Amino acid sequence: MSEQWIFLDGSFVRKEDAKISVYDHGFLYGDGVFEGIRVYSGNVYKLSEHLERLYDSAKSIMLEIPYNQQELTDIIVQALQKNELNDAYIRLVVSRGVGNLGLDPASCPAPQVIVICEELAIYPEELYEKGLEIATVATRRNRPDVLDPKVKSLNYLNNILVKLEANMAGVSEALMLNDEGYVAEGSADNIFIIKNETLYTPPGYVGALEGITRQAIIELAEELNYEIKEVPFTRHDVYTADEVFLTGTAAEVIAVVKVDGRVIGDGTPGEETGKLLEAFRDKVARDGVQVYEGSSVRVG
Ligand code: PMP
Repeated sequence: MSEQWIFLDGSFVRKEDAKISVYDHGFLYGDGVFEGIRVYSGNVYKLSEHLERLYDSAKSIMLEIPYNQQELTDIIVQALQKNELNDAYIRLVVSRGVGNLGLDPASCPAPQVIVICEELAIYPEELYEKGLEIATVATRRNRPDVLDPKVKSLNYLNNILVKLEANMAGVSEALMLNDEGYVAEGSADNIFIIKNETLYTPPGYVGALEGITRQAIIELAEELNYEIKEVPFTRHDVYTADEVFLTGTAAEVIAVVKVDGRVIGDGTPGEETGKLLEAFRDKVARDGVQVYEGSSVRVG
C-alpha cells in the first residue's frame, strides 16, 4: 500500500499524523463504541447492519455520534477511495472524546470518530484447511446486567483476558462460558454447533454479541433448509457435536476440530461447515454497499 489515510477529527490525515489526545476517554476509560467491517471486491459488507449496531451501542451508553448514518457511510466510502482499497478491513471507532482526568463523560463535549481502513490481514488459509483447536477458559462472559455484551464497547478487557488464557493454553481461540456455565462465544467470534443436520447457536441473552456474520449464517442456513435453533447449550453439547465452527467479520466461518482435547467429528473441518463457508463467500460481494462507480451509496 502507498500512503495510508485515516479519518480523524473531521478530516483525513496520514497514518503517521493520526494521533489522539491522552485525555481522550476512549483511551483513559474504554469509553466508546466500535465496529469491524469487511469490504469484499469494493462492496462494504452489510454496512447498514454494522451502522445500526454502532448506533444502538452508542445509544445504550448515551454517546451521541456526531454524524448520521448517511454521513458515516459517505466517510467510509471516501476512506476506501482515498486508500484505494477494494478488499479491506475497516475499523470504525467512536470515543467519548477529550475530557478531564475524571471519568465523568460530562467533561467530554465532542465525541471523536475514527475510521481506519487496511488491507486485510486474513487468518492464514492453513487454519481454514486444518481447523482450529479451542479450549474453555476460566474467565466468564460479563453478565448482560453488568455490561451487556450486546454493546460493542471499547471495553474489551473481558475478551482480552479470555484471549490471554487461550494463548497460555496454546490454542487458537477460547471457548467462553457465561456465569451459569452455558456456552457464550469465543473471544471475538460467535459459535455454532451442528448435530444431526441441525444448527445450534447461543441466543443473545446467554451473553453473546449479536454478530453480523452469525445473523448472515442463520439466514443462509435457512435458505439451505437447515433447521436452526437459538438455544442455550453446554460444553457437553459442543464435545459431542458433529461439527463446530466460529463466525466473525475477520474469521468469516472457520471450523473447530478440537475442543478441550476432545476431537470433533473425524478431526477435520466438517462438510456442512465447508458448504456454509462456500455459500457465505459466494454472497459477500453482493450483500452491502458498493464503493465504486455505478454503485449506490445510500443506506436505508
Ligand atoms: N463476539 C465478539 C465478542 C466480537 O468482538 C465479534 C467481532 N466483532 C463477534 C462476536 C462476531 O461479530 P461479527 O460477526 O459482527 O463480526
